[in-house]
Amino acid sequence: MLSVEGLSKSFGNQHILKDINLQLNDGETTVILGPSGSGKSTLLRCLNLLETPEQGTLTIEGDRLQFGGKLSDAQVRTMRQHSAMVFQQFNLFPNYTALQNVALAPTLNGKLSKSESQQLARDLLVKVGLEHRIDSYPDLLSGGQQQRVAIARALAVSPDYLLFDEPTSALDPELEAEVIRVLIDLARENRSLVVVTHNMAFAQKVANKIIFLDEGRVAFDGPAGDFFASDQPRIRQFLNIFD
Ligand code: ATP
Ligand code: MG
Repeated sequence: MLSVEGLSKSFGNQHILKDINLQLNDGETTVILGPSGSGKSTLLRCLNLLETPEQGTLTIEGDRLQFGGKLSDAQVRTMRQHSAMVFQQFNLFPNYTALQNVALAPTLNGKLSKSESQQLARDLLVKVGLEHRIDSYPDLLSGGQQQRVAIARALAVSPDYLLFDEPTSALDPELEAEVIRVLIDLARENRSLVVVTHNMAFAQKVANKIIFLDEGRVAFDGPAGDFFASDQPRIRQFLNIFD
């Protein structure tokens, strides 16, 4: 389980996330929706401690962090073991092959030997449909292929929660579809996914739960079906943009 209580995050004097409370269940896909600037990326980055909130608590699989003071490196390391993030712009290491990109973290964190990491990386690249691209460098891969390497890399650390920030928004439609297929497969395997997206068709297809952020507050938190059928004016107004 991943839960957040009373989380607040500011940048300077701008209060971005305001008293966020959430509870995500293992094995579910949660989609975070909301207008541009509502705080979706900031929330995702707080879950992975790429940003440090000023207030609140974060609990993942029983490890609990209280914000407000300085976090120790050990605390950050413990929490980060629980999640892995996939970014809009792939962020692969350009001088490493696909295989090396995926094998790096499990080798560095000492969980697997070099040969075990490479075997795992191969298996994960096959899983995302890139068995023919294992030794390619990122700049020779399409955007969709690069993003699939990034997903394999995130899977390689066996995170409890996979966090995706607009994973397909830098891609052309046909490349978007191949990444979406991988995400749908992961959702079907009952992995715990948290996905920020502006693609409503995709959201409707994969989401068990929707969190709708509006001006830094949770304006809806509930089953996906209830969200898309909601007659709340703010939600209808948001959804009408995509019709
Ligand atoms: P989008 O849909 O456009 O990606 P978002 O919902 O992900 O938007 P965020 O990126 O979380 O929104 O940004 C929320 C607010 O926080 C915005 O006003 C943004 O300008 C501000 N913000 C985000 N990151 C920083 C930062 N590092 N420093 C200062 N302000 C920031
Ligand atoms: Mg964003």
